[in-house]
Amino acid sequence: MKRIRRCMVCGAYMLKTACCGAATAPVSPPKYSPEDKYAGYRRKAKEHIYQQRGML
Ligand SMILES: [Zn+2]
Repeated sequence: MKRIRRCMVCGAYMLKTACCGAATAPVSPPKYSPEDKYAGYRRKAKEHIYQQRGML
């Protein structure tokens, strides 16, 4: 998967590494990444298992 980059000169988003005669910068990742969501789901699933075991 290619990272989206942004030209700091004209502000355009692109996949190119250079624009307007200058190097583009990678766009910072979004606040909620799929990895974080998955980690939270795993944590909840683990809690559920522990609760079930505690009831046995
Ligand atoms: Zn540009």
